[in-house]
Formats: sequence, C-alpha cells, structure tokens
Amino acid sequence: MASNLVPITVAHGDGIGPEIMAAALHIMQEAGARIEPHTIEIGEKVYLRGINSGIEPSAWESLRHTKVFFKAPITTPQGGGFKSLNVTTRKTLGLYANVRPCVSYHPYVQTKHPGMDVVIVRENEEDLYAGIEHRQTDEVYQCLKLISRPGSEKIIRYAFQYARRNNRKKVTCFSKDNIMKFTDGLFHKVFDEVGAEYPEFEKEHWIVDIGAAKLADTPSAFDVIVMPNLYGDILSDVAAQIAGSVGLAGSANIGDHCAMFEAIHGSAPRRAGQNLANPSGLLHGGLLMLVHIDQPDIAELIHNAWLRTIEDGVHTYDIFKEGTSKEKVGTKEFAEAVVARLNKKPEKLKPASYSKAPKQTFEQNLSSTRHSNKELVGVDVFLHWTERNPRELGKRLEQFNGDGLKLTSLSNRGVKVYPDGFEETFCTDHWRAGFMSDRNQKPVSHQQVVSLLDRIQKAGLDFIKIENLYTFDGQKGFAASQGE
Ligand code: NAD
Repeated sequence: MASNLVPITVAHGDGIGPEIMAAALHIMQEAGARIEPHTIEIGEKVYLRGINSGIEPSAWESLRHTKVFFKAPITTPQGGGFKSLNVTTRKTLGLYANVRPCVSYHPYVQTKHPGMDVVIVRENEEDLYAGIEHRQTDEVYQCLKLISRPGSEKIIRYAFQYARRNNRKKVTCFSKDNIMKFTDGLFHKVFDEVGAEYPEFEKEHWIVDIGAAKLADTPSAFDVIVMPNLYGDILSDVAAQIAGSVGLAGSANIGDHCAMFEAIHGSAPRRAGQNLANPSGLLHGGLLMLVHIDQPDIAELIHNAWLRTIEDGVHTYDIFKEGTSKEKVGTKEFAEAVVARLNKKPEKLKPASYSKAPKQTFEQNLSSTRHSNKELVGVDVFLHWTERNPRELGKRLEQFNGDGLKLTSLSNRGVKVYPDGFEETFCTDHWRAGFMSDRNQKPVSHQQVVSLLDRIQKAGLDFIKIENLYTFDGQKGFAASQGE
C-alpha cells in the first residue's frame, strides 16, 4: 500500500503557516490524496540559529529525494544579512517558472472584475533578481539586470506549453523593450520566435506600463501572460488582489527536476495562533501540486468542494462580507466545511475539471546557442569623479587617446554630457567614458584596453569598472547614450 504514496517534502513555516498547513493537509488526507509528507524545518527558527539561508543543509536531502516541496509561508527576520529563502530555493533547485492562476469568485468574493481568469507566468531566476548589486561611488549604486536567451526561451516555451495543456486561447508578453532594447528586447524577440511555433494561439505584446494598467482595469482582455521576473513579481500580486484577495491564490514554482507549491501571501504574523487565517491560498498551491504528482482526480474533488464552500457563504474573516457571506469561520472550521462538501460540486460557480491532467513539467528542447563572430571594438570606462564639470573631465580624458583608442563620448547616468553636452544636465559623481577603436570600428585588443586603464590610473583617476564593447556579426552589442 505504502508504495502508492508519493513522498512530498512539507514545511509548516512561520506565523499563520502551521495553522494553514495543518488545514490544507487535513483536507487533502480526507480527500484521499496519495501523499507521504516528510517534514522539514525552515524559516525564522533556522535563521535565528545563525543559518543565513533559513534552511538546514539536511533539509536539501529531503528535497533532492522527493523533488516536490509543499511550503507554508515563512517570516524573514528584518536586516542582519538574512537571505530570502524563496529566492535561494528557486535558484538552488532551478525553479525557473512561477505560475500563478488568478481567478475571481464573483459574486461570493467581492471583486470589481467578475469573470477574471488570468494566469501569470513569471520568469523566476534572472533579471534584476540575480542579486548582483554594487555601490560604486559616494552617490551611485547599481543592480545588474541579466536576461539570457536560454532563460527567456525556457519561460516563454513553458508559457505556451502551459497554455496548450490547459486549453487557453491567448498568450501575451509584457516587456519594456522601448527603453531596454537589449535585455527586454531579447525577451520580446524570443517571444516572437517561440510564438511562431504555436500558431493556434492569439499572441500579443504590451509595453509593461500600459499593459499593467489594462490588466488592472480590464483583466478579461488577458488569458496567459508571460513576463520577466520583476514585472511578474509585481503584477502577479496585483492580479491576485484584483481577483478578490491575495489570501486566495496559490502558486507553483516549476523546474526541470523539482517543483515547489505555496500560497502567494506571507506569514501574516499578526494573525498567527488565533485560528483566523484563510487556508485557501495554500490549498490552491496544494491543488497545483496534486496535478503535478498525477493526482488530478483528488485535485478536482477538493477544488469542487472548496468552490461549494465559498458558494455556500462559509468564509474566513478576510473575505467575509455581511449580506453575501453566511457564516464567519476560523481556519479549522473552514477546513471541516470543505471536508464536509467533498463529493459535492458548486451550483453557480464553474466546476473545476482536471480530467485531462495538465502535467506541469516537460522536457524542453532549447535551441542550441549560435556562436556569433564577436569583436572587441572599444571600452566603456566608468569613473568616480567628484567635480560636476563634464568639459574638464572630457578634456582630461582626451589626453589618454592613442594606441588605437579614442574618447568618443562622456555620459552621466546615460546622458551624453561631452562633447556638446547641455549645461542643464545634472551630473552625479559616476561617469561613463566611451573609448572606441580609432579605425572605424576595427577590432582592438584586450592589451590596448589594459594599456588605456594603465594610463588612466597613472594620471590619478579612479576607474570603478569597465564594460568591453563588442560587435556580434557586425551588429553593435551596446547601447549608445541619450543624445549620442
Ligand atoms: P503577508 O502576506 O504575510 O500579510 C499581509 C496581510 O494580508 C496580513 O496582515 C493579513 O491581514 C493578510 N493575510 C495574508 N495572508 C492571509 C491569510 N491566509 N488569511 C487571512 N489574511 C491574510 O505580508 P507581510 O505582512 O508583508 O509579510 C509578513 C512576513 O511574511 C514577512 O516576514 C515576509 O518576509 C514574509 N513573506 C513570506 C512569503 C513566503 O514565504 N512565500 C511571501 C511574502 C512575505
């Protein structure tokens, strides 16, 4: 018998975590879920034991073994160099896709958007979340935004596969490629390329700002939306909130080898230990998990019982509303109400159907990387210089011309300030000096760059970093400054 059971790793988390996890597991067990929970400890207690990652090395063993993680929210202590456990888990286990279905339950849960049914597919590993940040001068800090072709292709392919397996009609991409032409430009380009392989879908691209406004105003205009990490982080919370409540949505974090399922909300410490919290978000994460481990029958049973409970007006405090709701219940009573409705279906809301088990992971055949002819044609030298006088710095830098390189522009926060800058442009202490090959984009050597840096440091200027400027098959691989 025991061999039927699928081992899963469970963390009960902090704050309201233990209460909602107990409720979710109780419902699953009563519904006959064929699971064998292995408990690990993560979160606040582990952090406070001095482990900055919030997870003991031994816990990884369980995760490597089960490959399925059902996780209650945790509390990240403020300050003190603690690393976000979520980011660590996603990156360590290669969970590249974050999938968040955001559905409204009108008229039982208040929302301005009846009929909303949007799935946000968020890239989970790169973008500004690589966590590569530096302070470079007294005034300027930077965070590197990294977007890769395989990273983009993986998430975009995942979004189309998800849409196909879940009978969706349209896939939309959000990016900001009108401004970030290289990074977001790549994401958009890969969306167009991969999208061409899925002719059955309507496809569109929105610039993220107006797309976000449209999503908040008319979510019914969207079906599946795929986006880079930061936009997805923000907009998946917006989408969940406007669907009715952040307390209702669950999410799946999917990788090639492992997957993690959770509620989208945090540990709500102020509500802890009072039998108040709504276990629905975590339960919805659990439903995505049951589908993932090939138990769609159990997911369907629970989902329909849950819909019926909501429809019957049995609500926790966060969604309780006089007039619509019938009974205000605590976490445990809500779980019992769902258990009492197992085998029942909703009468008004659309029943859940998981008959065609949409598997969440699949083999990805990524395109192989095409190697371009890459040539070094110049270098951007970044300098810490405290005078706010671009002309003076420009003149000094021109003295380093020679040996095949010459200063072509000096910019400050991306705006060209020399030659021919505007006096009105405000300058910080962070300067970018572009030195290009003086033979019309002919290649230069790394040695020429090193010699230039040597000349600069001997003159007593503080260079804080360099970026080599390459062409790829003759195409510029770097952005010009504004005004250049
Ligand atoms: P939160 O989501 O924990 O709570 C915000 C508010 O939402 C709560 O005060 C509560 O009123 C309400 N709420 C949230 N979940 C609810 C539920 N299930 N039922 C009823 N009401 C609910 O956000 P926060 O207060 O910003 O963060 C608290 C802690 O959670 C922080 O330490 C944060 O780092 C952590 N956090 C963890 C995760 C995670 O583990 N995945 C995610 C987000 C935040």
